[in-house]
Amino acid sequence: MSKVIAIDGPAASGKSTVAKAVAEALHIAYVNTGSLYRAVALAAQRAGIPLETIPEGFLKTLRLTYRPDDSGKYELELDGAFPGAELRTAEVAAGASRVAAQPAVREFLLGVQRGFAGERLIVMEGRDIGTVIFPDAEYKFFVTATPEERARRRLAQAGEVPDGATLAEVARSIAERDRQDSCRPIAPLKPAPDAEIIDTTGMTIPEVVAAILRRVGADSTQRRS
Ligand code: C5P
Repeated sequence: MSKVIAIDGPAASGKSTVAKAVAEALHIAYVNTGSLYRAVALAAQRAGIPLETIPEGFLKTLRLTYRPDDSGKYELELDGAFPGAELRTAEVAAGASRVAAQPAVREFLLGVQRGFAGERLIVMEGRDIGTVIFPDAEYKFFVTATPEERARRRLAQAGEVPDGATLAEVARSIAERDRQDSCRPIAPLKPAPDAEIIDTTGMTIPEVVAAILRRVGADSTQRRS
């Protein structure tokens, strides 16, 4: 069994915030796997490579590592620098979803992601962690919310949507990403049969975090005070 808490779910479901908080409460590492797909899209854009078909040779040139940033948090480093906010633009998010449908990209990142598991429990968040990357993960959660609620959450996140975007536009781009992520033939977005599904609509972040901590057997009193 892999020592992994897998947290999967659709775009803007709140899974990153929840996954980060769970990792912090347990004092364990957190890996945001969406950043890897975003980094591939960003690197291809920078190199002028069309996103439709990312060549295997290009993937092999990428240096993707997680290193602590100035605040001690593990962040993805691409080719020796932290891309930071550049990964979080709407354009890169849409690009990530396009490159994520390609078998060569998924195969390449599968190895990168499996390399994170070890003796110590980690939190890993994405779309296919419980289904493909770690089907034997110790804990599996599928965090979701209604499309309306997710659009509202995304709109409230600074930097994730273009300035002046409306709720309807954000809802449309999320629906498009859901469609691409759910309909792709390989590793589509879907809950693992043994995942606990948490519909977070109407729940606060601390409530979701507490539900997960209860399930992994940790009491919220174990949190850093
Ligand atoms: O989670 P985030 O929104 O950062 O993910 C960006 C895109 O990367 C997703 O829309 C999805 O297409 C892809 N992705 C994936 N598998 C993962 C994580 C992300 O296909 N494990």
